[in-house]
Amino acid sequence: MRRRTFLGGAVAALTVQAIPWRRLHAAQAMPAVSRSGEAILLPAGDIEALRAQLRGALYLASDTGYEAARRIWNGAFDRHPALIAHCAGAADVTRAVAFADAHDLLVSVRGGGHSISGQSVCEGGLMISLAGMRGIRIDPQARIARVEPGVLLGEFDREAQAFGLVTPAGTVSHTGVAGLTLGGGFGRLARKFGLSCDNLLSADVVTAGARLVRASATENPDLYWALRGGGGNFGVVTSFEFRLHPSPPILLGGPLIFPFAEARDVLRGYADYVQSAGDDLYADAILTTLPDGQRVIVLDTCYGGSIAAGEKAFAPLRKLGRPMRDGIAPTPYVVLQASADQTLARGRRYYVKAGFIRDIDAGLRDSVIGQFPSLPPTAIVNFADAGGAIGRVPPTATAFWHREARWNVVCSTVWDDRADDEENIAAGRRSYAAVEPWARGFYVNDANLAEQSQAVVDRNYGGNLARLAQVKAQYDPRNLFHLNANVVPAAGIEPATP
Ligand SMILES: Cc1cc2nc3c(=O)[nH]c(=O)nc-3n(C[C@H](O)[C@H](O)[C@H](O)COP(=O)(O)OP(=O)(O)OC[C@H]3O[C@@H](n4cnc5c(N)ncnc54)[C@H](O)[C@@H]3O)c2cc1C
Repeated sequence: MRRRTFLGGAVAALTVQAIPWRRLHAAQAMPAVSRSGEAILLPAGDIEALRAQLRGALYLASDTGYEAARRIWNGAFDRHPALIAHCAGAADVTRAVAFADAHDLLVSVRGGGHSISGQSVCEGGLMISLAGMRGIRIDPQARIARVEPGVLLGEFDREAQAFGLVTPAGTVSHTGVAGLTLGGGFGRLARKFGLSCDNLLSADVVTAGARLVRASATENPDLYWALRGGGGNFGVVTSFEFRLHPSPPILLGGPLIFPFAEARDVLRGYADYVQSAGDDLYADAILTTLPDGQRVIVLDTCYGGSIAAGEKAFAPLRKLGRPMRDGIAPTPYVVLQASADQTLARGRRYYVKAGFIRDIDAGLRDSVIGQFPSLPPTAIVNFADAGGAIGRVPPTATAFWHREARWNVVCSTVWDDRADDEENIAAGRRSYAAVEPWARGFYVNDANLAEQSQAVVDRNYGGNLARLAQVKAQYDPRNLFHLNANVVPAAGIEPATP
């Protein structure tokens, strides 16, 4: 295939969805966007050749399936890729990557589609969608799971829990395993079993050169290191192999809801208590507004050990104030994992900005609680619990640098009507401004990348940046995979050879 770059302005003016491609003559070409954002033309013959190569589907704007395939969780991103490769397996992924490389085409990679900052859908480029790759294989004897990259957390949890096993994952069941794991993976059992990426044993990866390689402790170990916290920078993962842990199907957990008037005392008592709690105890502290308009503070809990031990461990939290509702009860783990699914439903509009903190001191409490009543009822501030096993891994052992973080404070606003964008984005920014002076870095998976400079992203990788840049230069020297918390390839490094 020949690379064709068209530098004129006329093509840029055409929008992808405006043209019924099926009716174009084979000699014609389709406008698209290059890796570096220039207008290019894709020959119709090349597009048809790619379509013929795929076991899965290739969607153009006029194809049935295109609309559903381009949608991601955050409805605020309404982008139109020129092409969507709906991949059926690793071979499709290699063909899609080879096509993008040959045409110097902008690429986004979609696993579960939960990118908060919209990185998994691109405007005018090639969206490599893994949404159709949903296989899961549990080996109960070896306690190993093989998971394809379109799998959602709830699907993985259900499959593993049928055997009394679990890999720690995030707290909303419709999130994708792929993006979550590559950036880290915090959740209800992470204090006990570590981040999701800490439980990754190996991965199959299609690199920028369209080579399928395996990354593990013994094969391409630098790539294996970089995949665990370096996000989608290094290629497209087509299969994940995870360690599984025994974990009972019923755990003690659920929400403990206090009136907002008690928020200061509850947050202080909560922070003091959980700082020294055992690894089984997990509790987020969430400032939110109930559907009836009441502001509240919610402790969203889960205990990873026995029910009896959990009752003992949660007793001090129950006494922090006068709960309006005590929803802590023995509950199937998969139900706890889905408990926030409706609140954070797909397709709504979201603004999110978040940062890691080490302590909830009096200044931070005053700042956040003092400001919260002035935010619209669409605002949520979540002090997401971390620490425990996460913090016992050295920061250079994997690419995930922020091991010292004790909480991830996620400030968000959620709404439905485009007309309310301005108000909600401004409120989200105000909400995070109350936390920012205490923040020490951010989580790549909920980074608001539109508002971060490359220098800030670089700094956020801390002492791992230089090694990440070297691995990037080996596996993606031209930065094909740059729609992410980008690692810029180091200069002067030889690309990895087959
Ligand atoms: C409602 C909600 C709840 C969340 N809760 C948690 C939580 O509890 N804990 C937590 O740690 N995080 C949480 N997150 C953040 C989550 O980890 C990220 O949004 C993550 O990117 C989701 O992965 P995905 O595959 O669904 O996303 P996608 O949008 O599909 O992908 C996001 C990015 O990941 C990369 N990527 C995805 N798949 C691949 C692949 N196969 N190979 C290479 N790169 C790939 C790409 O760069 C892509 O742009 C939450 C997000 C949301 C929206």
